[in-house]
This record gives sequence, structure tokens and C-alpha cells, in this order.
Amino acid sequence: MKNKLSLLSVVIPVFNEEENLDELIRRCLEACRSIGMPFEIILVDDGSSDASVQKITEASQQHPGIIIGVFLNRNYGQHAAVMAGFEESKGDIVVTLDADLQNPPEEIPKLVGKISDGYDVVGSVRMSRQDSLFRRMASLMVNKGVQLHTGVKMHDYGCMLRAYRRSIVKAMLQCHERSTFIPILANTFARKTSEIEVSHERRSEGDSKYSLWKLINLHFDLLTSMTTFPLRLLSVLGVIISATGMGFGLFLLVMRLIHGSEWAVQGVFTLFAILFIFIGAQFIGMGLLGEYIGRIYNDVRARPRYFVQQVIGR
Ligand code: UDP
Ligand code: MG
Repeated sequence: MKNKLSLLSVVIPVFNEEENLDELIRRCLEACRSIGMPFEIILVDDGSSDASVQKITEASQQHPGIIIGVFLNRNYGQHAAVMAGFEESKGDIVVTLDADLQNPPEEIPKLVGKISDGYDVVGSVRMSRQDSLFRRMASLMVNKGVQLHTGVKMHDYGCMLRAYRRSIVKAMLQCHERSTFIPILANTFARKTSEIEVSHERRSEGDSKYSLWKLINLHFDLLTSMTTFPLRLLSVLGVIISATGMGFGLFLLVMRLIHGSEWAVQGVFTLFAILFIFIGAQFIGMGLLGEYIGRIYNDVRARPRYFVQQVIGR
């Protein structure tokens, strides 16, 4: 699918990043100019309470038509902000980037180059990552889990320095669910994906905008955006508990026949066996409910049933 790509959009979510914005904008402009194709930089303010809004306003006045500000009324979270940026973007290639300069904007040309080579989604892998051990471990687990489940061998789902072809962005905008995790959503629509290695720096100014609570929330978004498998786990658990209860009951019966009624405290243990069977049955019941809820969830979020990448021969 090599066709002429005529506009590049860079989408950047901004949440209380006043200290980083000047440098970010300067470096982004420089990197985008070096590519030699028309571009726009969309800064989405995710309900900042500092001077970010003024900074974005000033920048867009200085570079009309190139720097575009999108202001959300309150804080909706990074992925929602990026979605809002997608909605506003016009580019044939859309690059997302964090505002904190952990991933250098100088890598944008490389991403764009990969997309021009015919890839639909280009991710990036953070080399020598500069985050706390806890964050790195969490990411490692998530990445392995996602790889296992989706079968797409991308190594770093947490890194938001990524590039998407327009068709992928269009498909993502057709997904109306409230909680999204963009890198995974994008991969469900992509045919050819690729990765590049990028450097990773310490956050240049300010603190991470993710509190522990927000991080946990994000990972739940990730899980539910990917699969309803945890609901099915309830049934599996129920079957295991019930089967154990039945086995235990059988064991008690045999022992009773061999050793007489003195054994196993006159039937108290039998009660446990029966209890286990019923607890298991409850779990199976919940799992069954979960099956329906999972289906309702899938229908309610109404993702496109399929995604036509291209029609040829007309
Ligand atoms: N961000 C946002 N809304 C939020 C949290 C973060 O728009 O509620 C933006 C933030 O301004 C930054 C990006 O998302 O551009 C990544 O945030 P951060 O660097 O704090 O995350 P970390 O690097 O710690 O994963
Ligand atoms: Mg960061």
C-alpha cells in the first residue's frame, strides 16, 4: 500500500506540563520540518490546572494552522485525550507522543519512514528505560500478557511514541467504548506492524502524571479492552471447587466403609464436602452470568465487526 502520503499529524496529550511545553514544541517543530512534508501538531489539553492552556494558546497563535490546541473541560485520562486528538487530526500519518520528553521527538522521522515503507502501525521499544523498578516490572508483566493473548509480537505496549496510518485511526474512532487502551486497539485493526528502538530519558520536568490508582485503572482498561476471559475464569474455578468437593465426598465414603462411623468425626467432614460442592456450583452460576455479561459488553461497545483495509479491482 504505497501511496503518496501528504500530511502528518502529531498528537500530544498534555496534563499539567507547563515546564515541558516550550522545549517540546521547539523540538517537535524542528523534527517535523526535517521530514519535508506538511504537518500539524495537535496539543490536547487534558484539563490542566497550570499554565499549559496559555502556553498552547500562545504557540498556536505563533504558528497558525500548524499548532492546534484542543482543550478538554476536565481530566479524562491520557488515552481519552489522544482519542480527542485523533478526532481533530487530518493527517495520513498520525504520530502520538508524550509531552514529557521521555521519548525524544527527534525519532518522529524514523516512525514516518517506517509507515511510508508500508506498515500500518509502528511501535517503539524503549531502550535503557529510565523508570522506577516497580513501573518496569509492571510493564514487563503486561507486555508478556498482551503478547500471549493477541499473538502480536510487539515488545512495548506502554510506549506511546507510535505512528498510525489514517485507516487505522479511522477504525479506532469507530470504537465508541469509554475505556480504551490505544496501542492494543490499534493492533486489532493492523495488518502489518513494525517496531523501532528509541531512547528513553528521565522525565525532564515535573512528576509522572500517573498515580498508583490511575495506573491500576489503566491496567483494568487494558485488560477489559482486550478480553472478557476473567469472567470465564469464574466458571473454571467453580468446576474445580465442585470437583474437589465431590472427590472429597467420595474419599470420605470409602474411608467410612473401611473404618466405620468413628472416622471423620461422625460426619462433620461430610458436611464440608457438601459445602464445597455447593460453593462450586455458585461459582459456576456466576460464571454463567459472566458469560452473558461478557456478551452484553461486547455488543454494547459496538466495535466494528470487521475492518476492510482495502478494496481493489473496481
Ligand atoms: N497525561 C494526560 N492525562 C492524564 C495523565 C497523563 O494527558 O491524566 C499525559 C501527560 O501529560 C503525558 C502523557 O500523558 O504527556 C504521559 O504521562 P506521564 O509521562 O506522566 O506517564 P509516564 O511516563 O509516567 O508513564
Ligand atoms: Mg512519562
